[in-house]
Amino acid sequence: MATTSCDVAIVGAGLGGCFLALLLGRRGQRVVVIEQGASIPSAGADFLKPPGLRVLARHGLADLVERHGLRRDTIRYYHDGDPIQECRFPGEGFLIRPYRELVELIYTSCAMEGVEFWFDTTIDGVTTGEGHVEELTLSDGRRLRAGAVIGADGTRSAVREALGIEQSTMPYERLLMRVATVPLSASVAQLNRMYFSSGGWLAYLYPINREEARVFVGLPPEDDKEIFQDGIPALLDELKKFVTDSSDVFNSLQPAAWQRIKVSSLRVESYHKGNAALLGSAAFACHPMTGMGMSYTLRDAEILAEVVCAADGDPELLDRLLSARYEPRRNAHRQLIDYGDALAAAFHDRSAYLAAFRPDLHVFGEAAASPGPAQALQPA
Ligand SMILES: Cc1cc2nc3c(=O)[nH]c(=O)nc-3n(C[C@H](O)[C@H](O)[C@H](O)COP(=O)(O)OP(=O)(O)OC[C@H]3O[C@@H](n4cnc5c(N)ncnc54)[C@H](O)[C@@H]3O)c2cc1C
Repeated sequence: MATTSCDVAIVGAGLGGCFLALLLGRRGQRVVVIEQGASIPSAGADFLKPPGLRVLARHGLADLVERHGLRRDTIRYYHDGDPIQECRFPGEGFLIRPYRELVELIYTSCAMEGVEFWFDTTIDGVTTGEGHVEELTLSDGRRLRAGAVIGADGTRSAVREALGIEQSTMPYERLLMRVATVPLSASVAQLNRMYFSSGGWLAYLYPINREEARVFVGLPPEDDKEIFQDGIPALLDELKKFVTDSSDVFNSLQPAAWQRIKVSSLRVESYHKGNAALLGSAAFACHPMTGMGMSYTLRDAEILAEVVCAADGDPELLDRLLSARYEPRRNAHRQLIDYGDALAAAFHDRSAYLAAFRPDLHVFGEAAASPGPAQALQPA
């Protein structure tokens, strides 16, 4: 089969891959995105916090993304049924927009910039020479030569493996997650509420649009086995012990289909090798309780686009710029991963959780500007 040449090959058409493709396409780069699925990913995160919204605004995408999203400005936290604190998001608040919809908007914008998407294919082989990736061999037999290669292919990144970059994955073993989409109830429409229990359970309830809500339940693995074997009544009995202000959702949990999600943190030893770099979940993963993974990924894509364009096809310069301007992102990611770990370790203990909670990181992330949007509440 023929070999295709491009400026940048991006592996993975999730948020990171699509956003980077858009930024590069707008700057006249010839970009090919390789995606193993038949289309962009169907499910993922729901919350875009202020730092991510600001990145989108810088690239003229804020109106498009917000048009059908839900704005929220407060999350109320409970412990063993008592309200313990509220986290407020000043100004424009944060946005709820299901992942598929968010990525689709960016993907659609890519078409106008001439970005090519090759679906239903993955990388079978990587040819390197003089420390640089020269060619990718794809599972459908096609070959792709690119000046720069970006692995935006998620936590199990094949690009990362091909580059020989070491990773360490730490599953949150004490917390198995289940998620269901249910009809929206009045309490969920009113406020985002996150409940914790001293027994190591959590429940997070929020709307995803004007008709539906998402319910996340986190529980110890041994409870998961028991509860989900015994069916919904057993689940409700447990939730009723600590979910106090959202009882109007209980009835709709009955027929809900509960999807199981395993969550892990991921750290890698380096974010690039020669002319190839990692982006998004291929480079780092933090506990979803931070709600910041997408915001950091959008900022990372912005930096990568700058670096790739500044290198202007020179692989040695690209290597140097990635070392100088992209590798330092690991410090911000490390801080976020540590923060997620601290929340996950503490949430069952009321005072430990309140001590670990960092409103600045939670609301502003690395761009922390003014601490203090969390307010302690008197237990009811
Ligand atoms: C349960 C959970 C909840 C979360 N909630 C939030 C939240 O509310 N807010 C937030 O900001 N962040 C959240 N995050 C983090 C957020 O999901 C990630 O930061 C974001 O999805 C990263 O996007 P990505 O493009 O790197 O990866 P992905 O979305 O995983 O995309 C990777 C893409 O690469 C493709 N791919 C994989 N391997 C190959 C291959 N070999 N060849 C070709 N294609 C391949 C996949 O099919 C996929 O399309 C959450 C994470 C989890 C696990």
